[in-house]
Amino acid sequence: MKVVVVGAGIVGLSSALRIVEDCGTAGLEMTVMADKFSPNTTSDVAAGIWCPPRRKMTEREMQWLKWSQEYLTSLLKTPYAPEIGVFLQSGWIVWMHADFQDPDWKDLVQGYRHPTKWELTHLFPEYRDGFFCTTFMLESRLFLPWVTNRLKDRGVKFVERKVQSLDELSLDYDVIINCSGVGARDLVGDTKVFPSRGQVMRVKAPWVKHWMLLEGKHPYIPGIPYIVGGSNSTLIGGIRQDGRWDLHNDPRDTETIWKGVTAAIPALKDAEVLEEKTGLRPMRESIRLESEKKTNPLSGRSVQVIHNYGHGANGITWSLGCAKEVALMVKQLLQEKSTKSRL
Ligand code: FAD
Repeated sequence: MKVVVVGAGIVGLSSALRIVEDCGTAGLEMTVMADKFSPNTTSDVAAGIWCPPRRKMTEREMQWLKWSQEYLTSLLKTPYAPEIGVFLQSGWIVWMHADFQDPDWKDLVQGYRHPTKWELTHLFPEYRDGFFCTTFMLESRLFLPWVTNRLKDRGVKFVERKVQSLDELSLDYDVIINCSGVGARDLVGDTKVFPSRGQVMRVKAPWVKHWMLLEGKHPYIPGIPYIVGGSNSTLIGGIRQDGRWDLHNDPRDTETIWKGVTAAIPALKDAEVLEEKTGLRPMRESIRLESEKKTNPLSGRSVQVIHNYGHGANGITWSLGCAKEVALMVKQLLQEKSTKSRL
């Protein structure tokens, strides 16, 4: 069975990885096709905190989160975990409003609690509530090259190409896994998908050992500042611009980020800037993870399409869990194919 994964961000490469691991490579010929690869995807821009959105979760979403945690737990126990950007880190999300609700997934992270009075008074003045916990970090800029090598070792082909329409692929492949992120808006005409632009800087501040996400409109702190300790640099950000498509680093946003993070941690003022990057979060009201049969209008040939896109501001968190469901779907297609060929 010939399978093509469109997209080489965290969602595409996690899907390819879990297909190869869960289905094996017997009877499977796999290609990853994308117009951008690491380090040039949105996934490379992300901080990599395992933190789902704080809204009501469906049963299916809770299952994806559990699968994602299980996989990360298995990676954490490998000797190469630090090399591939997998480790644990503790931190706070603080909230301007008093109506903070505990998320459904609070028991999936470790040591979930509300901020203490000392933390709110001395670390986050004017913020009202929030939480502190220990959670996974998955740094895509380290993880994606590792997954790429692992897939190449298992015979997966990598092709650099912009796909204009899925019909282009339906003559050459039996299954298309659509992991095109914000690109799905054009690729499959899904107008529910839109970008939320983010800009970040990597700075040298090895003394930052926690993540801090400051949410809500603060009286004097601009943007939505966040600071995340990485394995060899600290990531700072604070920009979330819905509907903006451009990928250049905007000096006005750089200024907002500096003002925001140094208001929270003045000691960052002199931190050396190592890199600045911009990415587009693939926003959608909910993740599209579903299978559909598509028939090429010219050739009449049918192909199975599995869509897996629209992971919003939390794609690193969802990726490995959604990828397991994709692998289960492919496994079933493989079984159906083998049953048909035996008849
Ligand atoms: P992408 O990484 O954008 O990959 C899409 C792929 O599809 C690319 O390879 C692209 O080339 C390819 N593609 C698209 N269209 C086509 C086409 N027509 N033809 C060929 N190829 C195509 N999430 C978290 O969980 N934790 C965080 O801490 C976090 N922090 C973030 C911070 C910032 C500043 C930003 C911007 C995002 C953050 N996110 C975070 C969100 C996360 O980065 C995204 O949800 C995730 O990267 C989406 O992954 P993806 O693979 O769907 O998309």
